[in-house]
Amino acid sequence: MSLDNIKSRIVKSEAEAGRAPGSVKLIAVSKVQPNERVAAVLDQGHRVFGENRVQEAAGKWPAFREQYSDIDLHIIGPLQSNKTRQAMELAQSIHTIDRAKLAKAIARIAQEIGSCPSLFVQVNTGEEEQKAGIIPAQTDAFVAECRALDLPIEGLMCIPPVEEEPSLHFALLAKLAERNGLTGLSMGMSGDFESAIALGATHVRVGSAIFGARVPASA
Ligand SMILES: *Cc1c(COP(=O)(O)O)cnc(C)c1O
Repeated sequence: MSLDNIKSRIVKSEAEAGRAPGSVKLIAVSKVQPNERVAAVLDQGHRVFGENRVQEAAGKWPAFREQYSDIDLHIIGPLQSNKTRQAMELAQSIHTIDRAKLAKAIARIAQEIGSCPSLFVQVNTGEEEQKAGIIPAQTDAFVAECRALDLPIEGLMCIPPVEEEPSLHFALLAKLAERNGLTGLSMGMSGDFESAIALGATHVRVGSAIFGARVPASA
């Protein structure tokens, strides 16, 4: 339980990287955490949260939002097409745009409901078979496709392979974002958010270092 600890480490990393104070947004990843742990973090004044399943987010956040109207919710897990509308209605940001079908669905629903969350394109920087995301070589074309649909693409997101040095992946993501004129970089988790900040992260997604180890899901 150390929101303050993580916040001060972020401030320190921003300073060390010569970045403006407050340039990194801390997304507290609350997936699978008991509600009382989430409530404790809300109590401490934090409002930015991440969930990786739409279903779980839908069961948890509408009630918290009744208490705190300024919650900033980010969907950071793979998004099934049939959950797109629900995700857009629940969240202020979606980090996992990774295919044309999803981009088109978001564009259509945004027209209908008259609003759209801010969006990140997920890049599979390690080109891992089992992982979601656009491969690096297709990123420029996919970003262009999203822009042609008028989608509000804020930046890129990645989850480095567990076995590899994350900073190589962070550097690659930063390079891809820069050459596409994108300023948002969603990268860095509990174990590596400081090196992500050194390489330009604007959004770090930190779960267990704030909330403690995840309680295993029963379902
Ligand atoms: C769970 C998760 C995180 C947070 O992981 P921790 O190691 O607990 O900080 C970050 N990003 C994504 C996409 C996740 O699913």
